[in-house]
Amino acid sequence: MPLVLGPQSSHIPRMPARHLYIHVPFCARRCSYCDFSIAVRSVTPIDEYLKALRTELAQVASRDDAHRTQLLFGDRSARWLTGKPARDALETVYLGGGTPSRLGGAGIASVLDAVRDQWQLTRGVEITIEANPDDINDIAVAKWIAAGVNRVSLGAQSFDDAALEWMHRTHDSAQIGRAVTILKRGGIDNISLDLIFSLPDHLGRSWRDDLMRAIELKPTHLSLYGLTVEPMTPLGHWADRGQIVQGGDEGYEEEFLAAHELLAGAGFDHYEVSNFGLPGKHSRHNSAYWTGVPYLAAGPSAHSFDGAVRRWNVLAYAEWIRRLDKGDPVLEGEETLTEENRIAEEIYLGLRTTRGLDLLPEELSRAQVWESAGWATINQNLLQLTPLGWLRLDSLAADLAARREPSSADV
Ligand code: SF4
Repeated sequence: MPLVLGPQSSHIPRMPARHLYIHVPFCARRCSYCDFSIAVRSVTPIDEYLKALRTELAQVASRDDAHRTQLLFGDRSARWLTGKPARDALETVYLGGGTPSRLGGAGIASVLDAVRDQWQLTRGVEITIEANPDDINDIAVAKWIAAGVNRVSLGAQSFDDAALEWMHRTHDSAQIGRAVTILKRGGIDNISLDLIFSLPDHLGRSWRDDLMRAIELKPTHLSLYGLTVEPMTPLGHWADRGQIVQGGDEGYEEEFLAAHELLAGAGFDHYEVSNFGLPGKHSRHNSAYWTGVPYLAAGPSAHSFDGAVRRWNVLAYAEWIRRLDKGDPVLEGEETLTEENRIAEEIYLGLRTTRGLDLLPEELSRAQVWESAGWATINQNLLQLTPLGWLRLDSLAADLAARREPSSADV
């Protein structure tokens, strides 16, 4: 289906969604830094989750149909349209969490069956699941592959056992290596590793050692996140009691830049502020978020976007189950992007990736100041942030957004 432009002027393409996110909220225990919407369960209620998910996927698909009809035929379509336009095949499916691997081999296969009941998948579809190292075994991996999974994002976080214990992770460093070996032996070689930097100094964790250990496992992709102290987490309580001392902005910057240098030297493209991929192995699902195209979503706390409206689901798993059981909608809120929001988003999304941002003529002199500071490069009129610039991403994006009037961007 060709790209469809919406009724109002927009740089964000108005088109049907071809990307689906599914939130799987289960975790064996809560990590010390985590404030995500999760459901801690020693035994995963797979059947209960699947029943509710199937109901919600039918709702999502029917909303997707209505959106596609509106895009293709406009508001008057309902007067004469008898059939529905065929659904677009999905290009990416991403199971995130929580810990999707807690669903095991058969559970993941059932989730993907439920997806295929509603949508076709393209021949080259990227199907990612997030997994914890301690859930990886040969039997589960064989079932994931048979179900179509072709990419695994592994929550490694660190290779330092003391740091892993401090984070309340359920695995040790040896299990990360074992998990990668099992995945590759089973046939999944598109593996991303998550690592956390800017850990408190008292842990004595060596960030460079962690990066080297990760590189030795030959992943295709790495996602790096700076530790943030969220209130109402064990980490937040430790911080309130003065029990942790982080390295401050200086330590954060040092570790971020060290990661850029080491991973670029190992052949990885630093293609988004937090993400590194070998050529051809950038995350297609996350890249869709960063280009501003529409995406569908299901599961507690899941967010979707149709190109103009952002919607989000009820947060708590128990409430999500209760509503779906009664046949009630699980949408909790929605926000229509204003022209101002859209401009700010376009700037932020462009600057956070190496895709960059097309400068308006009146922005050139400002961008040249950033270029002389080493924060950006300008090629023709394309502005791209450097790693030094990414350390200031929020303030640089806000600075540009404040200068860009809605009318001047509407060209
Ligand atoms: S495994 Fe992930 S989602 Fe679950 S508690 Fe830990 S950080 Fe949070």
